[in-house]
Amino acid sequence: MTSVATPANFNELGLIPPLLARLTELEYQQPTPIQAQAIPSVLAGHDLIAGANTGSGKTATFALPLLQHLFQQKSVDKSLSNKGNYVSGLILVPTRELAKQVADSIKSYSAHFNGAIKTLAVFGGVSANTQMLALRGGADILVATPGRLLDLISSNAVKLDLVKTLVLDEADRMLSLGFTEELTALLALLPKKKQILLFSATFPDQVKALTQALLHNPIEIQVQSSDASTLVQRVFTVNKGDKTAVLAHLIKENEWRQALIFVNAKHHCEHLAEKLAKRGITAEVFHGDKGQGERSRVLDGFKAGEIDVLIATDIAARGIDIEKLPVVINFNLPRSPSDYMHRIGRSGRAGEVGLALSLIDHEDFHHFSVIEKKNKIRLEREQVKGFEADEVSSDSITAAEKPMAKPEGTGKKKRKKKTPVNTINADIWSGYADPE
Ligand code: AMP
Repeated sequence: MTSVATPANFNELGLIPPLLARLTELEYQQPTPIQAQAIPSVLAGHDLIAGANTGSGKTATFALPLLQHLFQQKSVDKSLSNKGNYVSGLILVPTRELAKQVADSIKSYSAHFNGAIKTLAVFGGVSANTQMLALRGGADILVATPGRLLDLISSNAVKLDLVKTLVLDEADRMLSLGFTEELTALLALLPKKKQILLFSATFPDQVKALTQALLHNPIEIQVQSSDASTLVQRVFTVNKGDKTAVLAHLIKENEWRQALIFVNAKHHCEHLAEKLAKRGITAEVFHGDKGQGERSRVLDGFKAGEIDVLIATDIAARGIDIEKLPVVINFNLPRSPSDYMHRIGRSGRAGEVGLALSLIDHEDFHHFSVIEKKNKIRLEREQVKGFEADEVSSDSITAAEKPMAKPEGTGKKKRKKKTPVNTINADIWSGYADPE
């Protein structure tokens, strides 16, 4: 991947005054690395493949140039708005909540355009009629989940033949099995000539194949996570039967303002919430079996800080931006290593201090090692004081004791029962520099 000269402030990026004024109001003091590297290329009309971690400021990276192009085009060609059911900028995202969030961000960035740019979000789980009405006369920017967009197209509520820019956000997810059919159908409806911007934290083979087939001489930018130091990752070995007790203990002892807890199945959300309730902790749940009204209520409540503890499945793992979320806890490990990165990326966003904890029992050791290996991390196994795991396998030897290069599965020296490695107090920040 090529690296591009990096402007240090927004004024140097070539953005127009209404956008710069808004960024000042939003107190964005300087571009994030992906913004600094990508915005000039996108403004120049290039296709883009951007590899950037979640929380790195991706939305503004595509939204600001897109808004600028549309605003400038509309100033020149006033007839654009009269083309029925047109869309100029199309942003495809994998989840309903992300659609709403991205559209809200774009509306916020457009604050000084005096209503010249119309942005809409369309997604499933809510009335299609309302969305059809809103789409009358088209939209400059449409943020959509693929299934609902196809429904709206088949009802003639929207047409894609005037799309000038296509953004695929969370492209690795968009190209996963669950979406390929819908995405193929949508791509066939788009005009041949268009700018494509593709964002993905990871680049699996499907993404690479798509970039070759679709993109035209793309600029490729890979931003290494410079925020890594602001997100502290820790892993605790616990007995399987103690997991809920440990979770409750950590929540109570640390007095986090909020916590997002990930589990692997929808029914586990309710189950864990009930168990926490018995320990005096009120938690709300968020998963795909909830109606859209309830999903919105819970997520909005969590974002507004009205809900302290949220238990969720991986539908909350992608792109969702919760300001200053202090901690993400993997109560169950995610199946895929990339989902681990997406989950923990809900905390420590945009350079803020964050914390990601994983609770692993003995059955998780191997899987957690795979997650580490794939994500090129290695965490010291720790234990929570008062909840020491019965026995600690070779995987629980600290990083210093077990050299990274040592092949997996060697040195299977079992430790004696109740011999904690690096036992800690519940105070998660103990031993770490003051986050300030
Ligand atoms: P995103 O990766 O687009 O979801 O952005 C993550 C968070 O960073 C959002 O809350 C943005 O409002 C915020 N953000 C994006 N760009 C900047 C910036 N240049 N300075 C400060 N905050 C930013």
